[in-house]
Amino acid sequence: MWDVDGKRYLDGSSGAMVSNIGHSNPRVIDAMRRQMEKSTFGYRLHFETEPSERLAAKVASLSPEGMEKVFFVSGGSEAVESAIKLARQYAVTVGQGSRWKVISRFPSYHGSTLGALALTGYAPLSDPFAPMMQAMPKIPAPRAYLDGIAMDDPATGQHYAAMLEACILEEGPETVLAFIQEPIGGASTGALVPPAGYMQAVREICDRYGILLIHDEVMSGGGRTGKFMGGEHFGVAPDIIAISKGFGAGYAPLGAMIASDRLINPVLDAGGFLHGHTYAGNPLACAAGLAVLEEIETDDLMGNAARVGAVLKSRLQNLMQRYSFIGDVRGEGLLLAFELVSDRQTMQPLPKALNAYSELVELAYAEGLIIYSRRTRGGVDGDHFLVCPPMITSVDQVDEIIDMLTSALDKFSAKAGLAAEM
Ligand code: PMP
Repeated sequence: MWDVDGKRYLDGSSGAMVSNIGHSNPRVIDAMRRQMEKSTFGYRLHFETEPSERLAAKVASLSPEGMEKVFFVSGGSEAVESAIKLARQYAVTVGQGSRWKVISRFPSYHGSTLGALALTGYAPLSDPFAPMMQAMPKIPAPRAYLDGIAMDDPATGQHYAAMLEACILEEGPETVLAFIQEPIGGASTGALVPPAGYMQAVREICDRYGILLIHDEVMSGGGRTGKFMGGEHFGVAPDIIAISKGFGAGYAPLGAMIASDRLINPVLDAGGFLHGHTYAGNPLACAAGLAVLEEIETDDLMGNAARVGAVLKSRLQNLMQRYSFIGDVRGEGLLLAFELVSDRQTMQPLPKALNAYSELVELAYAEGLIIYSRRTRGGVDGDHFLVCPPMITSVDQVDEIIDMLTSALDKFSAKAGLAAEM
């Protein structure tokens, strides 16, 4: 990207983990132009449009087996709202009206609309609106590295999954509708990859109590982790999936809820899903989404995300030798993050006054590198940084990213008075 003064930037966070295939792709633009010449709107209660039907078929073919119904929306929050409303309407339809609670994790981010915000485990965003929302139960995300527990201990996954079961029992299983989680964490946890066995245990617990499992793949879906869905890395299929961000890849506002016939058919038979947005299934947005997926398939961009992501991750891990204040590097494919700490053993954060989350971003920006940061570990202070360049990134560009990041980290450590092994 170039700004108005001609300064060049490498978009190391794909905007907000959105521009997965880079900017101004000529084939996507051409597909959109062709669609614009045909039609840019078809009201979904009057017509199905060709792009929406083709995109739905494509998404179903890329989704876990049995998840064949796709409901289009315009963004991530709408996709999450659709997921929890489908879950609730399904429960009501099949005579389980006592189920309404959606358990989520903290920290987490599920969106800014009131339903999705009630699930979001980040108090500064949700507290002002608390009186307007239905409070939902939350369990800790499996951030074992912060709790002083080894992420690779085989018992760790079970330890965190057991918290879900305890929460279900405390709330009353007959009142619990669903559990929602980000399979690979986004901005709230900084690309948290769950410990071994966690996802399988969560699936089993949901099944044991008849609770629907919702995967929020708004950030982790679309291919950037090296697979179309982040959940695929763990061999576990949820009941409902929400996607957005890289799905429209910045070319059009686009998201989707994906679910199985098992959930959808009873709702349709009972008169239809009581939910929808005027712009849902917009043909222009769907034509863009279809062209994005074709680009990903044709150029094997998921394979590239896996390969280049592994290189980028190991280069970021190498930086831990140079900077003792990098506490952790994590993630999958090109959904990667690193965390800054004052002590790697205790994972104590850097002093707040250092303002690391904005200082380092500014320094990287000056070098020509865009990264994404958060000063939060969900109630626990901390600075983490997402490094999520587009899926078209080359190994040469990884070198460039690491060079620019190293310059920025050198300047940051000098300014903050932190030790760097030069
Ligand atoms: N869920 C996750 C995991 C997200 O990362 C986001 C956006 N950051 C959302 C939901 C909400 O998406 P949107 O901003 O498009 O409404």
